Amino acid sequence: MSNYSKIILKSGKEQAIERFHPWIFSGAIKTINGNVQEGDIVEVVSNHNEFLALGHYQIGSIAVRIFCFEKTEINSDFWEKKLLNAYNLRKEIGFIGNKDTNVFRLVNAEGDGMPGAVIDFYNGTAVTQFHSIGMYLERQTFANALKNVLGNRLKAVYDKSESTIPFKSDINATNGYLLGQNETNIVSEYGNKFKVDREQGQKTGFFIDQRENRKLLGYYSKDKEVLNVFGYTGGFSVYAMQGGAKLVHSVDSSDKAIELTNENIALNFNDTSRHKAFAADAFDFLKNIKDKYDLIILDPPAFAKHNKALHNALQGYKKINTRAFEQIRPGGILFTFSCSQAVSKKNFRETVFTAAAISGRKVKILHQLTQPADHPINIYHPEGEYLKGLVLYVE
Ligand code: SAH
Repeated sequence: MSNYSKIILKSGKEQAIERFHPWIFSGAIKTINGNVQEGDIVEVVSNHNEFLALGHYQIGSIAVRIFCFEKTEINSDFWEKKLLNAYNLRKEIGFIGNKDTNVFRLVNAEGDGMPGAVIDFYNGTAVTQFHSIGMYLERQTFANALKNVLGNRLKAVYDKSESTIPFKSDINATNGYLLGQNETNIVSEYGNKFKVDREQGQKTGFFIDQRENRKLLGYYSKDKEVLNVFGYTGGFSVYAMQGGAKLVHSVDSSDKAIELTNENIALNFNDTSRHKAFAADAFDFLKNIKDKYDLIILDPPAFAKHNKALHNALQGYKKINTRAFEQIRPGGILFTFSCSQAVSKKNFRETVFTAAAISGRKVKILHQLTQPADHPINIYHPEGEYLKGLVLYVE
């Protein structure tokens, strides 16, 4: 094995690694042997110099992100094998060669043993998004390996890490193609068409993680008057229309999102008269919807990007959910979500409970939702379960 700089842990700090937790916090480090640069591969050893793992070094509270618990050579073959494993799992769960759904997550960071790396597949184009320097530095290796793994299914690889790689590093990432050129920006999800704004859009262009929850919403939509708040590209709205909603209103504060929503509705329906999109602030819009809707979706952005923002985030969730509970029609259904990693399932549930109690309405939990199988959660890294949702019946 190559000689990597060593990270020596404090006594007792090896326990989490022995249970395959993939992060090493800076406080767990006793000494660093060698001149380590951000993004370097490092060997993590115990206080007694026993080998524990290999990972990428980063300046910050998470000092090492582990991608391997065995002594192995880290080269292009190693990474290709990782990608092949991720691909095989997607094949197992039915996404490879699926004509109805050609948009899915191919690599889900820790969930696929690749902390700091996200790769989404959009109808022939893989979009990479890196959150660590170590992974970013390997981007071309990944692009080439993806071609080997996916063959003709892959037409292009686009890297979109400009806004996600750590700002403390000196690397100025610019978005662009690592391989080929994109041929289409239209994807299909359960037969519904979506236009994806790869260059400007949020995340890698689409909220792939809501696929199953959107599908579920479709089943509840027949003859309903639906309000989709924080709609972004109108994903939930398209499914509500498909499910036979009488009327669908989409709300987002971004003009660009509203434009995309209208395009996506038009892409799927000849008659779009049941749908209307509003560029408005959600908190304002929700002030005045008394008895207007039977079905409300609240899918806000991550209010808490980190633990320090937790309190304010919970206040935000409480406020929007209270407004929805207070005003939804009797017998209404609320789909409510949190995608903040810092908000636990318990935090979220208690907050929604509080909102229900403030409204004084009688509420039943019908479904407890999370992220789909192409966003797997490493069981040793429970932090990876970031998406939480509740479907509630309001009497
Ligand atoms: N439900 C969407 C994803 C939502 S992402 C889907 O299934 O694809 C969150 C969206 O909330 C973004 O589009 C963002 O523009 C919008 N947003 C953020 N703050 C807002 C606010 N205060 N009012 C309305 N929309 C807001």
